[in-house]
Amino acid sequence: MIRKVLIANRGEISIRINRTLRKMGIKGAVIFSDADRNALHVITAEEAYHVGPAPSTRSYLNMDRIIEVAKESGADAIHPGYGFLSENPEFARRVREAGLIFIGPTPESMELAGDKLKAKESAKRAGVPLVPGSEGLKNVEEAIRIAEEIGFPVLIKAARGGGGKGMRIVERKEDFAELFSLAVQEAESAFGDGTVYIEKYITNPHHVEIQILADQHGNVIALGERECSIQRRHQKIIEESPSPFISDETRRKMMEAAVNFAREIGYVNAGTVEFIVDENQNFYFLEMNTRLQVEHPVTEWRYGIDLVEWQIRVARGESIEPLMGLEPQGHAIEVRIYAEDPESNFAPSPGEITFMVEPSGPYVRLDSGVYYPSEIPIYYDPMISKLIAWGPTRKDAIDRILSALREYRIFGIKHNIDYLIAVIESEDFKKGIYTTRFTETFEYRKSLPDKELVKALPQVKKALGIRWNTVEGEPVSVWKRTPVDWEL
Ligand code: ADP
Repeated sequence: MIRKVLIANRGEISIRINRTLRKMGIKGAVIFSDADRNALHVITAEEAYHVGPAPSTRSYLNMDRIIEVAKESGADAIHPGYGFLSENPEFARRVREAGLIFIGPTPESMELAGDKLKAKESAKRAGVPLVPGSEGLKNVEEAIRIAEEIGFPVLIKAARGGGGKGMRIVERKEDFAELFSLAVQEAESAFGDGTVYIEKYITNPHHVEIQILADQHGNVIALGERECSIQRRHQKIIEESPSPFISDETRRKMMEAAVNFAREIGYVNAGTVEFIVDENQNFYFLEMNTRLQVEHPVTEWRYGIDLVEWQIRVARGESIEPLMGLEPQGHAIEVRIYAEDPESNFAPSPGEITFMVEPSGPYVRLDSGVYYPSEIPIYYDPMISKLIAWGPTRKDAIDRILSALREYRIFGIKHNIDYLIAVIESEDFKKGIYTTRFTETFEYRKSLPDKELVKALPQVKKALGIRWNTVEGEPVSVWKRTPVDWEL
């Protein structure tokens, strides 16, 4: 039985998990660090426990304290959310040893998926296509020989790498030896293991992932795909389903491959198998994320299900049979709103949100982690919220998300709302023609205010300024989507 769950996370995902617990009549307890005493996930919770100082290594990553709090609170299960301890097999093992249920996969399958080389071996056994490449390498002569066999450009990756770190593209044989030794050193210092491997570098790939769900009775299902090719700094910012790129045939094969991989590693609970897809719709296994993904609402909307609810049902031993044969409906898009500056290479922009208006509307969902006035702490990922829209067609979903983005107002910090609008309004996005290289070449220019408005602005400010002065002297009524007006 699961009567009470400790949510070992913060921000929007903690709030989102708690919503499902309430809906299911299960008690929820949250945790917080010093920096999060007044955070939204704490304010909205029925019960909250302090776990340590602001740095996550001493709070949200503090396994001893989190397990202690779980026991203290009388919880019988822990939901790790995403990030932090969610993919840490040691944590999952310790939760189990403490007599608690870990809402997620077993530590054994987490280990199999977490080591990139081991995961590739499992993928091979399951007949899942792999990017042509090597095994673990340490010796440069052998590496050059293999790179030549594969053909340049190649990618050198760290076996224990993650988060886009430790990857190097090598275009020419002449540069190989030098970049190889750099990659080994980098892997050594960042991940404590200098093992690297080589993969063929796929030019202009798509990142497409498959949501899977597996129960404890041997049932594994795939719940469609999410196209996540709009990324900056190897991190996703827009996700949509269905993918505007892949064919029905490719989708079917990818879903089958993802299910086979999950079976191969004895996977239970929700997980995501990530693939890269080349221009000719050939797809290759990248990795499996053994947790709930940030972008899971896209799948929830198309399938009409609550994935967190199913994670809990699976954890308490229920079968996923009721979900079999479910057909997805319409089109869903998610955008991630970050406290960051798109004009300075997306540098995080923590600070105080002084004023905010959040959007809503038909078929619009906002999973937000903040309120105003409040601080975005410097210690954690600067994601503010996720905005998701659904429509019967891709165009409807796009129109709805644009409408919601235009309604969204955040003051006090830099954010990427205007950038997201510009991307979605671009011809290539509208046509659905984009790869993981999109943001590298996308020319973002803040939309300038109308000429007439600029001319009129001083008079407008003079005449109406006081009455409209709702936000630190900024006249909201003539706000033009970008703060550019005020600087003119
Ligand atoms: P990490 O675990 O560090 O996130 P991944 O293997 O998941 O690394 O790759 C992250 C991103 O790097 C992918 O989404 C893709 O955009 C790019 N990438 C990875 N492997 C290749 C490859 N062989 N060719 C081209 N791009 C790749």
